[in-house]
Amino acid sequence: MDESIQHDASRPRVFIETYGCQMNVADSELIGGVLRGAGYAAAAHPEDADVILLNTCAIREHAEERVLRRLADLARFKHARPELRLGLLGCMAQHNRAALAEKAPWLDLVAGPDSYRRLPELLGRVRFDPEQQAAKQQVARIDVRLDRAETYADIAPSHEGAVRAYVTAMRGCDRFCAFCVVPYVRGRERSVPPEAILADVRGLAARGVREIVLLGQTVNAYRFGNTDFGGLLHLVAKVDGVERIRFTSPHPSDMSDSVIEAMATEPKVQPSLHLPVQSGSDRVLAAMERGYTVDEYVRLVERMRAAIPGIALSTDIIVGFHGEEDADFRATLELMAALRYDSAFSFKYSLRENTRAYKLGDTVSDEEKGRRLVEVIALQERVSAERNRALAGERFAVLVEGPARRGGGMLAGKTPQFKTAVFAAADSIRPGDTVTVRVDSATAHTLHCTLI
Ligand code: SAM
Ligand code: SF4
Repeated sequence: MDESIQHDASRPRVFIETYGCQMNVADSELIGGVLRGAGYAAAAHPEDADVILLNTCAIREHAEERVLRRLADLARFKHARPELRLGLLGCMAQHNRAALAEKAPWLDLVAGPDSYRRLPELLGRVRFDPEQQAAKQQVARIDVRLDRAETYADIAPSHEGAVRAYVTAMRGCDRFCAFCVVPYVRGRERSVPPEAILADVRGLAARGVREIVLLGQTVNAYRFGNTDFGGLLHLVAKVDGVERIRFTSPHPSDMSDSVIEAMATEPKVQPSLHLPVQSGSDRVLAAMERGYTVDEYVRLVERMRAAIPGIALSTDIIVGFHGEEDADFRATLELMAALRYDSAFSFKYSLRENTRAYKLGDTVSDEEKGRRLVEVIALQERVSAERNRALAGERFAVLVEGPARRGGGMLAGKTPQFKTAVFAAADSIRPGDTVTVRVDSATAHTLHCTLI
């Protein structure tokens, strides 16, 4: 939350913990905006809070288990301070609402991604309802109505990022990939009006944010009236003060000429693209209901690389989906080796209730998924290191973010390709500055550079 709502002892204090993707980071900022409007202040630590909210992810079982463990910790907090209010928000709230009441009866509030506007009211109820107090909060307030029109366009998020900020362009998803819970927990696809996005971006630019990341589960399917995603990129690029624009995640089937044209012609739109492929086997892609073949995907990559020279590509891979045979998995490795991504996120398939693939069950054991994951990661680490080392001697413009994680008087920032560059600090350089560096050496994840 922004400084204007911090450290105000007269107001109830809220602490928000965020799990999952950038979409959830942006949603937590939105929740911060809703609560700020209702008179809440931000707590710096959970120990100082009157209200603790967990904004959760349901994409894999592992993500949910982590939150359940955290809830068990928070039960102890609540035992020590019964007046503390605990809420579980987001995708897991939507996905597990019934089970949560059983697994975590100490929760006061369960609210899904389309219920954030009603949080002050819901918190007011848990806080002040004498009947509920008398019942010792045994029944959580549950609000998980999905709303196909809710875009929160009128709410100003409490953005946290100083150099980079996430701005939601569209919510929900209509694609229903067979493995994925997102359409069920985030509801139908809807785009935020361009004026609301631009107002947010102008505010961010005015307070020094230099990089805007437009978000949506299929962000390139954005459409509001006559504005498609290519049009939106052009509009955001016109905002003074914004130096860099990125977006995530585009769906390969929605990568229209208009988006490619905007990426190729708008200098502010950065040459990096996260283009999830999921599998290199046509059989598995069809079972996943992804909507493209390997050949179509490869042709898209070739088009993107031709249109945007030097573009960096990253992807998502799922191993061990229902019916994935060894030959299918080998095809994924071959595709990765052929396309030579700059980086990749890879996951063991996690069976999710409600999804189309749920009833098919698992055909690959957890041990075998683990072995496949290790192979995918090893291949990608090798390719990432090779690609990064090949950049030795090249110069890049780096948007400085702050001290490098390992400290040692080093600064870190991103190249246009979204690679992390680390270099020795100089007194005059501040976060938000763009500097030129030369690459000296590199690992799979970092470019070690010298300031020019
Ligand atoms: N909308 C994005 C797309 O389709 O490209 C992806 C959004 S999802 C939050 C991020 C990634 O999680 C997916 O690309 C997929 O690789 C992974 N994922 C989704 N459901 C999964 C599941 N049931 N098991 C394992 N990984 C999953
Ligand atoms: Fe999930 Fe597919 Fe939608 Fe991505 S496009 S959020 S993987 S259903």
